[in-house]
Amino acid sequence: MAKRVLEEMQSLDYDETRVDRLGNVVGIIRGTSGGPPVMMNCHMDVVAEGAKEQWEHPPFSGFVEGGFLHGRGSMDIKGPLAVQTYAGAAVKGIAPGDVIVAHTVFEERGGWGMEDLLARKVVEPAAVIIGEATQGDVTTGHRGRAEVEVVLRGVAGHASAPDRAKNPLDLVPAVLTALKDLAAVQPRDPVLGPASLAPTAIDVLPESRNVIPDEVVVVVDWRVLPDSTDQDLLASVRKALEGRLPALPPEMQVEVRMAREMQTSYTGISDRRNLFTPGFLMDADSPLILEAARAVGRREGEGMATVRPWTFATDGGWSMGVFRIPTLGFAAGEERFAHTNRERWELGEAEWAFSRHPALILALQKTLG
Ligand SMILES: [Zn+2]
Repeated sequence: MAKRVLEEMQSLDYDETRVDRLGNVVGIIRGTSGGPPVMMNCHMDVVAEGAKEQWEHPPFSGFVEGGFLHGRGSMDIKGPLAVQTYAGAAVKGIAPGDVIVAHTVFEERGGWGMEDLLARKVVEPAAVIIGEATQGDVTTGHRGRAEVEVVLRGVAGHASAPDRAKNPLDLVPAVLTALKDLAAVQPRDPVLGPASLAPTAIDVLPESRNVIPDEVVVVVDWRVLPDSTDQDLLASVRKALEGRLPALPPEMQVEVRMAREMQTSYTGISDRRNLFTPGFLMDADSPLILEAARAVGRREGEGMATVRPWTFATDGGWSMGVFRIPTLGFAAGEERFAHTNRERWELGEAEWAFSRHPALILALQKTLG
C-alpha cells in the first residue's frame, strides 16, 4: 500500500516524497510563494472485512455497481486517499503554500502514525484536511475514545474449595454499579453531545471453568469529550469505585489503567500503545471553517456547505486535539457505511468532491496567510 502511494505521488510529479520511520507516506507539492502549508490526510490501514460471504460483493474486489465503488476501504479510506493524492497534484503551480499529503499508519488502532508524524515534526502544517467521510459537508470534530481497564486481583483456587481462594469475580457487581454511577454523571458538550461509557467485556484469567480465577479485567469503552486526559479519566473511575467497593482483604487488589496493545509497524518498530484516541472540536464560526464551507459549497444548490461534527473518531484528534493544528474534514461518502459489510462510495459524489479540493486548499491558505 505504502509503495503504491509513493509510486503514485512520484508519477504525479510531487516535488518531494518520503516514508518516515513508522511508514507514513508523505508527499509535498511546493508552494509558489511561501504561503502557509496545508496538509491533506488519509490513512493506509483498514478494519477487518469480517465474514466474506456476508458481503453483497467480495470485500476486496473493487466492484463498481449502481454508481458505487463497493468493498472494504472503498470509502474508509482508499477512495478519499486517491482523491487527496490527485488533488495535491492538481494545485501544483497554483497554491501559494506547500501542499502536504500524508497518508498515515495505525489510524484504526489509535493513531500512532499521525501522533508520530506530528510529534517528530516530519511535517509542520498550518492546517489539516482529513479525508474521512463527510458526504460533502465540512466537519469540525468528534468525541474521542478511551479504553479503560479495571483489573481485579485475588487468589486462584480449585473451584471445589472456594474458601481457600479469594475470588475476584465477587467484586464484579460493585464495579459494574460504580461504572453505572459514573455513566450517569458524564459531561455534555452543546455540539458533540454527552460523553458516554459502557462496560464492553469481562476477561477472566485463567480461562478454566473449574478454577477460581486470580484476575478479572472489566473493559470500559469510553467516548470522551475533547481535552479529557488519561489522568482525569482514571481518577474519576477510581473515585466511583471507592463509593461502591467493599473493604478488601490484603490478598485482593484493584487497579485502574488505560488499555494498551503491542503494535508493530511494517517498518519494524514496536511499542505497547495506549489505545486512547483524543477528540477535538473547531469553532464552527471561526474564519477558517466559514471560508472552507464557502469554498466547498454544495453539491446540489447554492450556498455554503453544512458544518457539523462527525460521529466517529479520526486522526484529527491528534492534529487538533493534541497538537493544536486547525483541522477539518471534507470527503465524499456516508459515515454510516464505515466499518460495515455494506461499505461503498458514490463515484459521482467523489468526482464532485475532487473538483472542490483546489478551492478548499486555496481558501485555507488565503485565510491562514
Ligand atoms: Zn477511516
